[in-house]
Amino acid sequence: MRTGIGAAEALRIVLENAPALPAERVPAARALGRILCEPIRAGRDLPPADNSAMDGYAVRRADLLGAAPERPVELALAFEVAAGALAARALRAGEAARILTGAPIPPGADAVVRQEDVERVGEGLRLRAAPGPGENVRPAGEDVRAGEEVLAAGTRLGPAELGMLAALGRSQVAVHQRPRVALLSSGDELVEPDGDLRGGRIASSNSSSLAAQCRELGLEPVYLGIARDTPEDLERIFRAGLSADLVVSSAGVSVGDRDYVRGVLEKLGASLLFFGVQIKPGYPLVFARLPREAGPLFFGLPGNPVSAMVTFEEFVRPALRQMMGHRALFRPTLRARLAERLAKPAGRLHFVRVRLERRGGEIVAFATGNQSSGVLRSLTRAQGLLLFPAEETELAPGASAAVQVLDPDFLAAEEPGF
Ligand code: AMP
Ligand code: MG
Repeated sequence: MRTGIGAAEALRIVLENAPALPAERVPAARALGRILCEPIRAGRDLPPADNSAMDGYAVRRADLLGAAPERPVELALAFEVAAGALAARALRAGEAARILTGAPIPPGADAVVRQEDVERVGEGLRLRAAPGPGENVRPAGEDVRAGEEVLAAGTRLGPAELGMLAALGRSQVAVHQRPRVALLSSGDELVEPDGDLRGGRIASSNSSSLAAQCRELGLEPVYLGIARDTPEDLERIFRAGLSADLVVSSAGVSVGDRDYVRGVLEKLGASLLFFGVQIKPGYPLVFARLPREAGPLFFGLPGNPVSAMVTFEEFVRPALRQMMGHRALFRPTLRARLAERLAKPAGRLHFVRVRLERRGGEIVAFATGNQSSGVLRSLTRAQGLLLFPAEETELAPGASAAVQVLDPDFLAAEEPGF
């Protein structure tokens, strides 16, 4: 087992062990946020036929080429085409057809004149200009041509993609399966948030924050509860996670007297892939496969609330996204200007919790106070994690640094912008 490795090496090992899950077919209507496993080809043209972009009159352009304000041309109003109906017959020379938006262009017609540009005279129409070729006609296949690949494998299905699947009449799609995540906490001091705190207990907050981090990815974790600090109870609860694809545990991974997680993993026959990553917060991170080849991946996150969340963010989240079929696994990053000086010893990559502010054309980053790994408020106030590289010891005020954006809503506006 590797120990004390760098963040990039740890991430490489994690991703190597977390391939995309196989496909399943799901109803398109329930596929929001899922990742396509197959390319989608159009089985039909969209729109299926030439149709009108306006309420107006379908005409033959040749009839109107001589029309001018002082030389109007009159056409006979022959029939009407409603949306969803087909024209009864072709349009003949000297005729116009009343047509509504979306209705198919009758054979023989090659343009639509808006109703505002037409005078009704008795049973006919008077026009004072010739339309351009194809004016106000939406041609068949303008959006999509039959046979064309419309959505590539690997596409995330958002609202527009689901609309497209509906327009193409696709009611089922093949998407990557969603990883089943099992979640547990461990520690004799822990009770559920509504539990009795007497006798030095604390409320388990990691179960809530880690479950929410799963839900943000569109995954509903199975909560296995709190394990007592005994090898027997840990083993019982780890076994309950064996049917998952990925187990997330927190605490009990350091080198304290009651830190049994690694011992129990070994007893279960897990392959330990690494322990300890050169980061702060979150050094005591365990990554394993439970038990050997076929079992779920196992993350033993550190117990401190910020360490648990940051290690989930940096290692568990990319693994889950890759299993879900995403190609881009990481948070958006941006360059921000530091508002204050930061200093640390060389050796570990620090994730500094920062608030972000837009100032003119720049983003300015402010550390969110006490950065201790037990201080959850540093994360409640943060919109990003600033990367303070392992070998750097000082970042001066005004220096530019990379920030992973946790909350893109920091760009949300109070004004509409129009
Ligand atoms: P440990 O890794 O067990 O030494 O735990 C490190 C610190 O994290 C201790 O202060 C624990 O009380 C705290 N801790 C562990 N698990 C949780 C949890 N689920 N929620 C909140 N704090 C926790
Ligand atoms: Mg503990």
